[in-house]
Amino acid sequence: MQASRSTALVAAALVAANLGVALTPGDLALPARAALAVMVTVALGLLVVQVLRLLRRAAEAEAAASASERRLTGLIAANPILVLDGDARIADVTPAFAELLGVDAAAIAGRHVLDLVDARDRDTAGDGWVATLRRPGMHAPIEVRVRNVDGHIRHLEVIGNNLLHDPAVRGVVVTCRDVTDRHRAQRALARQAMHDALTGLPNRTLFHDRLADALARAARSGTRVGVLFCDLDRFKVLNDSLGHHTGDRLLVEAGERIRAAVRPIDTVARFGGDEFVVLCEDLPGPSGAVAVAERIIDQLDKPFAGATGDIHLSTSVGITIARPDDTPESLVRDADAAMYKAKGRGRNRWELFDEVLRTEALERHNVEQQLRRALDAGDLRLLYQPIIDVRSGAVRGAEALLRWRRPGAGLVTPETFLDVAEETGMIVPITRWALEQACAQVDGWRRLPCAEDVTVSVNLSPRDLLHPSIVADVAAVLARTGVDPSALCLEVTEKVAMGHDEGLLLNLRRLKDLGVRLAIDDFGTGYSSLAHLRRFPADELKIDRSFVAGLGEDPHDTAIVTATISLAHKLGTTVVAEGVESPSQLRQLEALRCELAQGYLFGMPGPPEDIGRAITGDTGLVPCAASTRVRA
Ligand code: C2E
Ligand code: CA
Ligand code: CA
Repeated sequence: MQASRSTALVAAALVAANLGVALTPGDLALPARAALAVMVTVALGLLVVQVLRLLRRAAEAEAAASASERRLTGLIAANPILVLDGDARIADVTPAFAELLGVDAAAIAGRHVLDLVDARDRDTAGDGWVATLRRPGMHAPIEVRVRNVDGHIRHLEVIGNNLLHDPAVRGVVVTCRDVTDRHRAQRALARQAMHDALTGLPNRTLFHDRLADALARAARSGTRVGVLFCDLDRFKVLNDSLGHHTGDRLLVEAGERIRAAVRPIDTVARFGGDEFVVLCEDLPGPSGAVAVAERIIDQLDKPFAGATGDIHLSTSVGITIARPDDTPESLVRDADAAMYKAKGRGRNRWELFDEVLRTEALERHNVEQQLRRALDAGDLRLLYQPIIDVRSGAVRGAEALLRWRRPGAGLVTPETFLDVAEETGMIVPITRWALEQACAQVDGWRRLPCAEDVTVSVNLSPRDLLHPSIVADVAAVLARTGVDPSALCLEVTEKVAMGHDEGLLLNLRRLKDLGVRLAIDDFGTGYSSLAHLRRFPADELKIDRSFVAGLGEDPHDTAIVTATISLAHKLGTTVVAEGVESPSQLRQLEALRCELAQGYLFGMPGPPEDIGRAITGDTGLVPCAASTRVRA
């Protein structure tokens, strides 16, 4: 009875309300749900008007409440609403409000409303109250946290309606909506967006935010910030061989160990894959960062427990210490460069980003900028080096080798720019261009007398082979130039060809299906097992020039060349010896029944016309001359 009387009072207060909603511009940004809440409140208000009309009529008629009255009164009671007096003390609450807090309605009557509000939101609530007092009518919603009787925080969206001037109410009606669940969902989403799902560590985005904050703090306080880029050594191999489930567990534990090796104020983030990046603040200098790197390396050097025994990991760490002009991006890039240096120097170690690396980084940047213009500017060209039939000395084909007329540097060889082209993906359009050029060229040579079987070889990089359109690109070039597919040989280094990337192997098989030839380049340098060779559909195997150089002089090199030729023949693969520089090397290759040879003995990489002339026997570099010289 008490409850229904107080509900009626709240209802009366609402009825008298001027339900026109005055929204501030800020409200426009509220989510749709908030807008809906306001609409519900308005609808509720209208319902309340209805209730009161009914009540008034009922009072006048002194009749018993109708079923409809009871329904509407129940509706009001079911919503958390409270009425405050001019001093913000609680005059009345609905049962739903009392229930929300888990208290008895009578127990909170007369209390100051701010007593219910969590300390963190008291200022917001106080400001809201002052604003509500200043102007009669409905106010924009605000959000506050209240603590229920169990001590749990509830998030409430509250709308105040100042009816102090209304003689029927003389109070402020506050309608509440419990938005705790929405808050929980928003918090979970925000966390997901900023953290790595596997390890729960901050992700790249959060790391960059924290690094930017740390740089700003360091600039004010004069302290130093360090970034450590940690990359697990050979993780990919372990992940592939032990399975992704074990790989995931290793990553989680590696993250925990790195966390344990740094101070609580430091941030450890996972950038994806096996890359972890650490932000250290308040460093005394590089030595502090080095100490952290050493602890991380030690931690990860200890064995990990696997299902079938210990697993050994190690890590390479690149360190950089922020300078005044550094940005989060430049720091991460520099730490990454230092990490690569650590890998190159044998792994399981750290390297500091220093002046040498800074100069190298600058040079790479310049190469990238200039190379971007090279294709369009026509600054790239292909030179061709003849490939010779060891027995007859005839030209069998040529390898296309890339050159770049670099502004200010003349014609430069690929080792000065290939890495950058590969890293940035610029190699993909370059290769497309090279394929087009080389195919047009071989078409021209094949029209010369006795040259209908001449081939052209083009080098493909890993990035090319992983590109989704590589097979279509090659097919399109063949179609456009009208060249027989067997005139084109695609060279892939042994390291790449014998890798474990299934997508890349699939592309190689599809290229093979086009009818083009495939060659394994630099054979002997990739340490692949010979058994692996069977998986790869190679037509040619090119013995790396480092082994050919020792042929007849170094017993190991001689043994490797001999064994490789014999194995290749058993597999039905043609052998090409690279880097043949002397007649004695050529003689031995002939004795070993190596079919093809390439090297300075026959010709340097040169313009395509040189190959044309060599084919027609019209040049000083004619292979026959070399052969004859050897035989003589
Ligand atoms: P590679 O495929 O092993 O090419 C052979 C390299 O050995 C060429 O160097 C060539 O000039 C050099 N060479 C040839 N004969 C001899 C010799 O008798 N003695 C010695 N010491 N060297 C010899 P280059 O042209 O500087 O090319 C270097 C590497 O760059 C190539 O090695 C190849 O891996 C890569 N490359 C060249 N052109 C391209 C291209 O168009 N695309 C891609 N992705 N890579 C290319
Ligand atoms: Ca090659
Ligand atoms: Ca080679």
